[in-house]
Amino acid sequence: MIVIGGGLAGLSAGVALAEAGWRVRLFEQRPFLGGRATSYVLPDGEHVDNCQHVTLGCCTNLEDFYRRVGSAGKIKFFDRLLFQDPQGRTGEMQAGMLPAPFHMAGSFAAFAPLTLVDKRSIAWAMLDILRGKGRTADLDEPGGISMLEWLKRRKQTLGAIERFWRVVLVSALDEELDRTDARFGVDVFWKGFLSNRTGYRMGVPSVPLAELYDGCKAEIEKRGGEVNLRMPVRAIHIADGAVTGVEFDGGRRETADAYVFALPHPAMAELANEEMKRCEPRLGELENIGVSPITGVHFWFDREVMKEPFVTLLETTTQWIFNKTALYGAANGTGKEKGQYLQLVISASYDLLQKPRQEIIDLCLKEVQQALPAAREAKLLKATVIKEAAATFSPQPGVDRWRPTQETKIRGMFLAGDWTATGWPATMEGAVRSGYLAAEAVLRNAGTPREFLQADLPADGFVGWFC
Ligand SMILES: Cc1cc2nc3c(=O)[nH]c(=O)nc-3n(C[C@H](O)[C@H](O)[C@H](O)COP(=O)(O)OP(=O)(O)OC[C@H]3O[C@@H](n4cnc5c(N)ncnc54)[C@H](O)[C@@H]3O)c2cc1C
Repeated sequence: MIVIGGGLAGLSAGVALAEAGWRVRLFEQRPFLGGRATSYVLPDGEHVDNCQHVTLGCCTNLEDFYRRVGSAGKIKFFDRLLFQDPQGRTGEMQAGMLPAPFHMAGSFAAFAPLTLVDKRSIAWAMLDILRGKGRTADLDEPGGISMLEWLKRRKQTLGAIERFWRVVLVSALDEELDRTDARFGVDVFWKGFLSNRTGYRMGVPSVPLAELYDGCKAEIEKRGGEVNLRMPVRAIHIADGAVTGVEFDGGRRETADAYVFALPHPAMAELANEEMKRCEPRLGELENIGVSPITGVHFWFDREVMKEPFVTLLETTTQWIFNKTALYGAANGTGKEKGQYLQLVISASYDLLQKPRQEIIDLCLKEVQQALPAAREAKLLKATVIKEAAATFSPQPGVDRWRPTQETKIRGMFLAGDWTATGWPATMEGAVRSGYLAAEAVLRNAGTPREFLQADLPADGFVGWFC
């Protein structure tokens, strides 16, 4: 068995297949694992994530994967999400005593950045999502409808759109509301905030991202497999509708009974030759899937400027501030360093792509100083900006029609990656789902079916009353 790509999709497929008794040989082009969800060491020895990654309680497959590779204990879950607007008004999202779907009612009622009229319009839209169990009738219109259109049809106020829907969804889906299929947006609220009490809980790694994959190599190797780094695949060979091998630098060729290609979709599109596209037309359609950017800004201050583990900012370029010192410190038993390391996240950061790094640093520093008064007195020791132009696939209306299934019409070829047909947007959960689905397809084809995909969290509390 050959797996190409050592991101979450390739790793989850590889670990699952190894567990099913297959000898897995994984090939990754970079010198480390994790793909887009990884961390590097800067020349001065500082560990930085390529960008802060978070998970939610409803991401059941990612949780299962972390458990399989011994990393579940490296994710810390938080029950309280904090929001702050430029006027300094704060709001929280936290489950209270009431059962779902009313568990957020208390914190929602007290959410200062929203007016009563905003809240009433949001409550009506939530009711609609509840009644449809996350599937309102207009989501199935041909070609899909945008999230903005969905909100307008439900007469959402400008305040509700800008200070609530946009804040949650641009971060969750990495796209603007007018370019997001409403199906994904509605699903975020159904699975994360309405159907049960724990789906919204936010999981944040307490170690640099690359450390989450330490157990993967061991899982694959203990079943006789291998993990090969710095090994980019240069070509895929097929004959008579079946994969006959993959080619690496220097003409080295490797063969296997089955191949899982777990590459980002632009890389897969580049490797797909005309014969492959003839056998599997969906490979020729990958260019219809767009990409959207995320920018991460890293600040090191000479003193503590923030107490909370993270905060969401409303109506600023900066969307999230993560207190990395506190998040890492909790795991390392320290957290008492003099200085403080913050990481800022800006999703769908189209406007920043062309801006010089210093301009981005200046803009974000001003926003941090406005949000965190202690930062005004502090000295910024170091700053870095990491722009990911193709961070995720863009969840544009109707995008699902271009997403291929994990099983292809080419014998021996299986696909994985957050962009394949999982029903999920581009997330770590979507990547792991795709890896598990690819592993299931391999085993089904080999006549030894086995299930890896985990069920969604069940609806609980009084949710049944509404649907
Ligand atoms: C900045 C940023 C922030 C994000 N934030 C979040 C978040 O908070 N929460 C969340 O759930 N998701 C987040 N995501 C999305 C998440 O990272 C991805 O959805 C997920 O990691 C994709 O995994 P994958 O395995 O499908 O693809 P990838 O991680 O891209 O893995 C593909 C692998 O294939 C390798 N490869 C490519 N070409 C070749 C070749 N020719 N030969 C061999 N190997 C090759 C690549 O090096 C890579 O390791 C974020 C993404 C980015 C970029």
